[in-house]
Amino acid sequence: MISHDPIARILTIDLFQRRFSIDERPELFDEAIGGAGVAIRLLEEHCPPGADPLGEDNPIIFAVGPLVGHFPLASKTVAMFKSPHTGNLGESHAGGRSAVSIRMAGYGAIVIVGQSNKPVYLVIEDDTVHFRDASALWGLRSSYTVGSVLREREKGSGHRSIMRIGPAGEKQVSYSCVITETYRHFGRLGLGAVFGSKNLKAIVVSGNRTLPVLDPKRYRTQYNALYSAATGSPLMKKYHDLGTPINVGPLNELGALPTRNLKQSRFEGADALSGEHLAERYLGRRLACAHCPVACIHIAALRTPHPSEPYFYKTSMLGYDYEPIFALGTMLGISDVAGMLRLMDEVEIQGLDAMSTGVSLAWATEALEQGLTTLADTNGVALAWGDADAAIEAVRRVVSQPTDFYRALAHGVSHASSMYGGEDFALAFGGNEMPGYHTGPAGYLGYLLGARHSHLDNAGYSIDQKNLASGIQPTAEELVEQLVGEESWRQVLSSLVVCFFSRGLYTPEAIVEALATVGFELDESRLREIGADVLRRKYQFKRREGFDLLSEPIPRRILQTESPIGMISEEMLRTALRAFDDGFQE
Ligand code: SF4
Repeated sequence: MISHDPIARILTIDLFQRRFSIDERPELFDEAIGGAGVAIRLLEEHCPPGADPLGEDNPIIFAVGPLVGHFPLASKTVAMFKSPHTGNLGESHAGGRSAVSIRMAGYGAIVIVGQSNKPVYLVIEDDTVHFRDASALWGLRSSYTVGSVLREREKGSGHRSIMRIGPAGEKQVSYSCVITETYRHFGRLGLGAVFGSKNLKAIVVSGNRTLPVLDPKRYRTQYNALYSAATGSPLMKKYHDLGTPINVGPLNELGALPTRNLKQSRFEGADALSGEHLAERYLGRRLACAHCPVACIHIAALRTPHPSEPYFYKTSMLGYDYEPIFALGTMLGISDVAGMLRLMDEVEIQGLDAMSTGVSLAWATEALEQGLTTLADTNGVALAWGDADAAIEAVRRVVSQPTDFYRALAHGVSHASSMYGGEDFALAFGGNEMPGYHTGPAGYLGYLLGARHSHLDNAGYSIDQKNLASGIQPTAEELVEQLVGEESWRQVLSSLVVCFFSRGLYTPEAIVEALATVGFELDESRLREIGADVLRRKYQFKRREGFDLLSEPIPRRILQTESPIGMISEEMLRTALRAFDDGFQE
């Protein structure tokens, strides 16, 4: 790496001592590039075995990569921690301005340790960290208000990042998120609860560094090549025009769109929730993460009439994406777009992960329908398919927790179903609620064996669709090989850290060249070695914290609802899991 590149600097902040230090750790970045590669090593260093995820020993690690600030779509930050939701590896990625702000402040990674004894927010400005009193922000009803206050109060407008939690994080709901720049999230696996456990309300980061390149001419050539590829790509145009909701129609047609807690895989209301319909009727604007020319973030303008005054309206600007549409729309049988957007808004206000929330509410709706729970449990909320208002009331109660039922639901469906029954239709994998793809066995294997139990770990849903198109169904072992190969390569992308939407642009050749311009001499085989090593370390961490893949339940519901390739076989899934587990024995 270039000797004066600040990527090698690690900022460590101790919330209890109210101290910080800055260390040069070039070896970490030489060995693991950045992002996920560096974060997992820092997690190994700072998280003792058996640490309480909501205790003082659990660190929060943010890491970026050497391409951030230099190249288009190198716009993401990796957050790593021990997850209060699954009890093992916690990892989520977010864009917005988070990555560029950390890089411009002069850091490759930030490590936050300890617990504050009163509410605090951090302001990181170049080489300084301020510990600010957050008592006035703690308890605010809405995450939006926290953002508004900090935007007013702190300087750096336009190039700072503001990461904050809502009421759900304060209450340590195990799937609460951290919101950055209003429309982006460290969504999955409960980073919001870890913030809450540390009395950490928000982090504001800004900086004014100049980042070095080795050879400006070579850098400019590679920048232009990646920029042209991004702006000329039909796939990127698709993301710009309609965003990820473009997937609603095709998945519905395929019979892969989880509906009413996956009782069905097609939704009769899918047209209303499609990317095309949302863009025609609701799209208000598009936004982009910093250093991204694609602008895939779609914001709906929802006009709500005043309850009594005629001609008075409130217009809310609400982000929408495929996953929230699946979780808070089709999974709950909601086809009323305004109702679904209001539900998404409430999830944002509370600061919850949309996917875990929607899947938890879908389970709760079915549990009530089947008589496993009563209206006394739900505090009088008559959850029903298609009823957005009831779902909004339930979301508020997941956070306010007026009954034991909501206290259980605040830990997700695995936990709630272990207390109330309904495990067969509790749609979580490795403890994490499912994403929106009932595509076939590779999708579910991907959720089960992926390090984060996320569809983005290894894109099993995409492997299913490719296999369907080719007409060839691989064996269990072949599927595992495909999934591990993809997840291993994605560790390279997560170490850089580039947006996964740009994975077709960041080919091995493009990465080697881009890294060379910022002083990292790595060839493709070394990149692949690093990817495999990062994945192995993540699995070692999970196992160390008690994760046992072969004991993970497979909810029966996924075997009972037809997928595009027919009924999914449990025996095949179990064979594949054993093959994976054997391959990962140390
Ligand atoms: S494609 Fe979308 S998510 Fe990815 S960096 Fe660009 S705006 Fe952000």
